[in-house]
Amino acid sequence: MFIDTHCHLNFPEFKTEVSAVIGRARDAKVDRMINVGIDEETSRRSLELARRYPEVYATVGIHPHCSLDLSIETRSSLLKLAAHEKVVAIGEIGLDYYYLKRSSQFAHYPSREEQIFCFEQMLDLALETQLPVIVHSREADADVLAILKSYSGALRGVMHCFSGDYDYAQKVLDLGFYISVTGNITFKKSSDTIEAIRRIPTSSMMIETDAPYLAPEPYRGKRNEPAYVVEVAKRIAEIKGISLAEVEHDTTKKAMKLFGIS
Ligand SMILES: [Zn+2]
Repeated sequence: MFIDTHCHLNFPEFKTEVSAVIGRARDAKVDRMINVGIDEETSRRSLELARRYPEVYATVGIHPHCSLDLSIETRSSLLKLAAHEKVVAIGEIGLDYYYLKRSSQFAHYPSREEQIFCFEQMLDLALETQLPVIVHSREADADVLAILKSYSGALRGVMHCFSGDYDYAQKVLDLGFYISVTGNITFKKSSDTIEAIRRIPTSSMMIETDAPYLAPEPYRGKRNEPAYVVEVAKRIAEIKGISLAEVEHDTTKKAMKLFGIS
């Protein structure tokens, strides 16, 4: 069994097709999926999916893009949602500085300070609920690491969509966090990230699709879905020169442990 530790089946790309997508995942031996919220509304829908489908688990949280949605009311709504037994993490949360210096689709993109405030509120929520965190970091690795370090020992979690080098991976692992790998590793023959994957033990790894985004080869450019997480596992096996069964076993075991699912 494989676990897709990060997907967004609640996004409009899947509309009425969720049952079929979950069916195809099951056929591919992807028997558990963690559906990730990015704001209050998607967190609520994430839990609705988890209630409807036994294979689906939910997370609740505010993505850095949505940092301005944070309010006392939002926070307490998330806290209530998090009490449900199928909510297994606070996420995705973190920092994303990519758009700070670029023209963007956002009328007002959250500033660095606004993002940090929201991120810390979400980390506090994780402490309060005793749930692990799913962290998003884009062009913000130094700040993310410094903030996580300030919670050192108190938080468990995973760095989602890993695309850094071995040095960065080591710092993440030193915090006691895990590394989650997406389809982006199927795009390249060699890079710093591929080299990092070669050196990180599979016992510190999880796999994810981030569906509907980032479809792995040979589906690149199409809409992604949880069944394709097997392609990520195959690529890890290829890079490390180990069997697919070993990647399957190690990543599934780690995800079950971190998220407390069976
Ligand atoms: Zn995501």
